[in-house]
Amino acid sequence: MAAEALSSMPLTSLPRLSQGKVRDLFALPEAGKPTLLFVTSDRISAYDVILKNGIPSKGAILTLISAKWFEVLSSRVPGLKHHFLHLGPPAGSGLSQEEEQLLRGRSMTVRRLKIFPIEAIVRGYVTGSAWAEYEKTQTIHGLPQPAGLKRCERLPKPIYTPSTKAELGDRDINISPNEARGIVGDKYASRIEELALACYNAGAAYAEERGIIIADTKFEFGLDEETDEIYLVDEVLTPDSSRFWSKADYQVGREQDSFDKQGLRNWLTDNGLKGKPDVEMPPEVVEKTRARYAEVFKLMVGESFEEAFKKVA
Ligand code: ATP
Ligand code: MG
Repeated sequence: MAAEALSSMPLTSLPRLSQGKVRDLFALPEAGKPTLLFVTSDRISAYDVILKNGIPSKGAILTLISAKWFEVLSSRVPGLKHHFLHLGPPAGSGLSQEEEQLLRGRSMTVRRLKIFPIEAIVRGYVTGSAWAEYEKTQTIHGLPQPAGLKRCERLPKPIYTPSTKAELGDRDINISPNEARGIVGDKYASRIEELALACYNAGAAYAEERGIIIADTKFEFGLDEETDEIYLVDEVLTPDSSRFWSKADYQVGREQDSFDKQGLRNWLTDNGLKGKPDVEMPPEVVEKTRARYAEVFKLMVGESFEEAFKKVA
């Protein structure tokens, strides 16, 4: 296992399509339907800023958690289609041995699709920006909610609360399901909402049996323009795309610690570094954060990250 965190992805054998905050996408040689290599780095952000150093193995932890979810959700959400084809690049992609080593556990071959430009957020609990809105207007993303909800309380039933999908550096804006309908079009809006809610419900139930509350999460969906079918894409139900809380520590009426990044956030705040650029985490903060991601992995996947990683070619 790489002891060093991988913050950039020095892959030269494949054409790079894009680089996001955490991921790099590479084009794969065409053989049938278009595919791409979806690679997750060890970069980490807190309070919307990317830290200078990363968390070793985080990219592989998130990739293997997503792969597990594609399997779990496929069997629990009727009719669900998803972009995941297999871990790693296809055989014969022309990568060097060093490149294959760098990618180990952190890449997956996926269908390349046209991404709907919204974030399909589902909330099961009222927290974060939704709590701020609720406190002011008793609505969440413009949707009226029952009176008397407390901070971080479970909602009577999960709600679909989309946002815009901002370009790198911009902030996503919360919108109502109706505004989302305007963006993706009537033809697809209801199916996206239905799939997002079904994936959240199935995922949250699975996680809760394992001691984790998924307070909210963000899904992305893409379209196969040839068949006109909607696919679940991107990472799925990871601690980076969701708010994970420990079920044992959960208490309504106060903020909850996030399962993975709380130690890092506390260290940043205590040291006056919240929101500052180019911050380097000291080794003990890196190690503690890594341990939290590994703990989430074990709870969700049912075996240690090290065990799972050994099985990845
Ligand atoms: P953040 O996740 O922090 O909101 P981001 O999504 O822009 O930021 P990354 O997660 O680093 O950044 O990048 C992943 C990108 O890959 C996203 O833009 C996502 O929409 C895109 N993507 C995911 N799955 C597919 C797919 N199957 N085909 C094409 N693009 C995809
Ligand atoms: Mg993303």
